[in-house]
Amino acid sequence: MKLSQITVPVTALAGVGASTEKLLANLNIFTVGDLLTYWPKTWDDRTKLIPLAEFANHKKVNTVAKVIDHAWFGYGRMRTLKLVIADSSAQAELLCFNRPFMEKMFPVDSLIRVNGSFYVKYRTLQSASFDISLITEASSDVLPDAENMEQYLHTGNGVLPVYALTAGLSQTQLRKIIGVALRQYAKGIENEIPEDVIKRQKLMSKAECVFAMHAPQTPEQAEKARQSLIFEELYLFQKAIGERSLQHRGSLPVETDTISTDLLAAHSLSPSDEQAVEKTFTASLSPRQKDAIARLPFKLTTGQMSVITQINADIDKSYEKESRFSMARLIQGDVGSGKTLVAFFGCLRICDYGGQCALLAPTELLARQHAENAAQLLEPLSVKLAFLTGNLKAAERNKLLKELKEGNINIVIGTHALFSSNVVYKDLRLAVIDEQHRFGVLQRNAILEKGRREASSSAQEQAFAVPNLLMMSATPIPQTLALTVFGDLDVSVITTMPHGRLPVKTHLCREESRENVFSFVRKELEQGRQAYFVYPLIKAQETDDTDTDSGLKSAEEMFETLQKKIFPDYSVALIHSQVDEEKQRSLMADFKENKIQILVATSVVEVGVDVPNATCMVITHAERFGLAALHQLRGRVGRGTAQSHCFLVYSDKLTETGKARLKALYESNNGFVIAEQDLELRGPGEVLGVQQSGYLTLSIADPVRDSAILQIARKEAFATLQTAYAT
Ligand code: ADP
Ligand code: MG
Repeated sequence: MKLSQITVPVTALAGVGASTEKLLANLNIFTVGDLLTYWPKTWDDRTKLIPLAEFANHKKVNTVAKVIDHAWFGYGRMRTLKLVIADSSAQAELLCFNRPFMEKMFPVDSLIRVNGSFYVKYRTLQSASFDISLITEASSDVLPDAENMEQYLHTGNGVLPVYALTAGLSQTQLRKIIGVALRQYAKGIENEIPEDVIKRQKLMSKAECVFAMHAPQTPEQAEKARQSLIFEELYLFQKAIGERSLQHRGSLPVETDTISTDLLAAHSLSPSDEQAVEKTFTASLSPRQKDAIARLPFKLTTGQMSVITQINADIDKSYEKESRFSMARLIQGDVGSGKTLVAFFGCLRICDYGGQCALLAPTELLARQHAENAAQLLEPLSVKLAFLTGNLKAAERNKLLKELKEGNINIVIGTHALFSSNVVYKDLRLAVIDEQHRFGVLQRNAILEKGRREASSSAQEQAFAVPNLLMMSATPIPQTLALTVFGDLDVSVITTMPHGRLPVKTHLCREESRENVFSFVRKELEQGRQAYFVYPLIKAQETDDTDTDSGLKSAEEMFETLQKKIFPDYSVALIHSQVDEEKQRSLMADFKENKIQILVATSVVEVGVDVPNATCMVITHAERFGLAALHQLRGRVGRGTAQSHCFLVYSDKLTETGKARLKALYESNNGFVIAEQDLELRGPGEVLGVQQSGYLTLSIADPVRDSAILQIARKEAFATLQTAYAT
């Protein structure tokens, strides 16, 4: 039986009644299986002697001592017993709150084992939190010394598991309950991963693991069990990813080149390599794609070319006769690397085959921008485009839906409205998801379902295929996480930036010296440039406490100041999520046409906004934004050929992580490097794109810390799947 199949309720165990059942439920433990997978946080090693005198160097003292006196303090019901104890190194007091009965249990002269955390108070060494057990009531006069203490230590429980607890349940109780479960149920537990993998990787069997976690003989044994479980978890995780990939595409994910950050920092192909990339690229183009290239005012970057080549090949493959293959590809590329265009070329390829595409963006602002760009590039090539958002009037919407269903529309671009159940396609063959971290896995699947089709003509074999999927992410996911989170996708990385772009200069500056920033921005404006001013809040914060002004600047407030006092001679506008969408649209259009020079905003401008003439980004209270958000915001400038600047204005009350974040941003322009830093600062659970993805449900493994194990587990899992699939 597998551990997860042990579904007997905990109440089946001796000593677990209704009240304990409730307590265990607080820890999400309902079955014996749950109980046995309730892994200890750590272990308390009581095989090693830590005498009283060494209390300061260890979290816990672990010694054998003699009770030399009983004393009492407090009065009446508050009267509390103190056991005065001594080992050969020092003397100490054990405060026995609510445990007067200990007077009888541990009489003067008895020899005890004690394990607890000690501190000095009133010049006395004390402990109020300790475990104690009796060795003998009568002992010799000499205090136990190091040598004869050891023998007593070993007679105790060697290494004790330490669990996370809930109020009302003690460590001792939980250990006891788990002990019962171990004895009754843990013997026959089966392995979850194949025997040969266990052998090859020198892992413990599952049953051994369970014992070694809850009742280890030595700390080393516990650690080995933990490593085995980490391996198992990552193996099963990667196996699930591999299975999903086989199901969708009939193949395992291709191992992409490792995205090393060094490589990215200094990525440069030799001219002959570049020529080779361009040659294959040109050969892969359809006539219409060639037309589109001719219409572009610039040359595609090598990165864009190589990714378009991959996409063309994938799409062609998905159109082969009775093909069950569909592309599932994530394009990672730093802000401004030109991912949108790559997606448009993918759409065009689908149009060549007569299929339909859906392009999904997280905000109306961004969707509209994509629609406008697509129209400019693709409409002259007689591609029929449509734009669908939640704001469309019923009549227009119905007309659009009808055309989509009849196949008169080739590409539909929109927001969440595209998920809605009445959106029906004639032949959806490509879903493009921009800023994929803003969408969940379920949404991603929902859109793919709309294009599910029969992929086999034979009656016996009912095979289906889903549309091609292209996801774009400007929040680079560190390589280590990418394997876990997007392990079922092929990943393409655009490592090149458009030609002639200068890296944005980043300036750190304190709130007090913001006047300097204003005068810098003024000089840029005088040269015909534009600027963004970003604030963390829309409105000034309302606090009950009038004394403590939070001091946080809001966009509304600063809009007034900037417009009236600082830049009265320029046109200043305010944009945030509460401004109605029609207004947002016209403001953005005006900003793009330089009718507005200064845009005061919140992080709504974080994604997508593309105005090459804007050269200044001023982020106030920069410490309030996450690293990824700051990098995105900075990416709003530096989109033309002029030198751009990003000012990170911070207040004095910087925390250590706040400082580290700003420093990381100051030191690097590379999104991948920044993503790795972010991961280090915040941990994987918090990193944008991982949390929302709904993928990361690991309990004992940590994909970052255990990345080496992850790689091996992935190889083993895929190898097993490959063998099974081939036969
Ligand atoms: P992101 O990768 O952040 O989504 P976009 O697709 O928004 O980037 O592209 C940013 C800007 O760069 C757009 O204005 C786009 O037209 C422009 N661009 C894209 N590719 C190139 C290129 N090869 N050379 C010059 N500009 C480009
Ligand atoms: Mg983009």
